[in-house]
Amino acid sequence: MLGEQTLEVWTPQKVPLAQGWPQSCAYVTHLPAWQVTPTALYVAPSVLPTIERAGGVVAVSAEVDRILVEGDRAVGVRMSDGREFRAKLIVSDAGIRTTLDRLIGDGAPEAVRSVAARIRRLPAASGHLCLYVGATFPTAAPKLDAANQWIHPSVDFDRNLSGFNADLEAPFPFLYISFPSAKDPSFATRYPNRHTIELVTAVSYEHFSRWAGSDWKRRPDAYEAIKSRLAERLLCQLYRYVPTVAGMVTHWELSTPLSTQHFASAPHGEMYGLAHTPMRFESRDLGPRTPIRNLFLTGQDVGTCGVMGALSGALATASTILRRNMFGEVLKATD
Ligand SMILES: Cc1cc2nc3c(=O)[nH]c(=O)nc-3n(C[C@H](O)[C@H](O)[C@H](O)COP(=O)(O)OP(=O)(O)OC[C@H]3O[C@@H](n4cnc5c(N)ncnc54)[C@H](O)[C@@H]3O)c2cc1C
Repeated sequence: MLGEQTLEVWTPQKVPLAQGWPQSCAYVTHLPAWQVTPTALYVAPSVLPTIERAGGVVAVSAEVDRILVEGDRAVGVRMSDGREFRAKLIVSDAGIRTTLDRLIGDGAPEAVRSVAARIRRLPAASGHLCLYVGATFPTAAPKLDAANQWIHPSVDFDRNLSGFNADLEAPFPFLYISFPSAKDPSFATRYPNRHTIELVTAVSYEHFSRWAGSDWKRRPDAYEAIKSRLAERLLCQLYRYVPTVAGMVTHWELSTPLSTQHFASAPHGEMYGLAHTPMRFESRDLGPRTPIRNLFLTGQDVGTCGVMGALSGALATASTILRRNMFGEVLKATD
């Protein structure tokens, strides 16, 4: 736990760990990877009808190309397919850098450009590798321990990290092995012979940045070769620490920071938005408001990293827009 939180919160700035501790505790105590029910499955079906009942339109697999700004206010969005949606309020969950640099971009008012310049000085969180594994057993899958495994090659976390980032053949700086199927009580009924496993470790975006201009699934052979090598090494670690699945792996796929860049629009393939440095927490730019009227930010860059951090960002944004203390209201409602 210390290792991961050191990575997310303070490395590489090497700020005393104790300063990150409250944030780390907040993250770890809610970590969805510990959940026992697959609640993510229910988020969209629960929320979308409310949006539609209120007259909203839900567009999926739809990319916003531009936030439309007229004078000093945001008036809507233009999608990549050319459609335009106009609204009284625009809330962006795409991350502050993407919002200011890409979605407002060149014609931005001076106030936005100066915020964007300050935000560019804040480092991004680390990139990661994730090996997504599917195992199929000839008969009912054995029971796996649902607890996550954290494996560190030594207690010197910073050294482990810099060693791997200097040489991808060095030991992985840590391994986080998680067992989503073992945490889901309905999984065995739905997929009796299977298990799903994820192995995550940290890696610097710079190892992959030279292929950033290539297209997903059509990346050059050199990239695929690095991926294959890393995946093969991660599989060896899986068999070492979870021998039950050796010989049973029927599917695996490795994501790199380029995958995170592609799927989540993270500018540097970062796992958690802006790094949790003291500079970030001192920044007065990271709140729901932007210099453009009617344009608000939300998500992890407004709150803190992780699902719960993003949720706190959402509550902060809702409180600002509605001028009500939504944190208090949620606490009261869940009493
Ligand atoms: C592999 C992995 C494992 C993780 N595990 C955990 C965990 O166990 N626990 C935990 O708490 N956190 C975990 N996290 C972190 C967590 O997922 C994030 O902190 C959280 O999702 C941030 O929420 P968000 O709403 O701020 O941003 P996101 O969830 O990143 O949502 C932003 C959305 O905006 C979309 N977007 C960006 N640009 C555009 C555009 N131009 N047009 C339209 N849409 C756009 C993106 O596609 C994305 O869907 C994990 C992250 C990764 C990558």
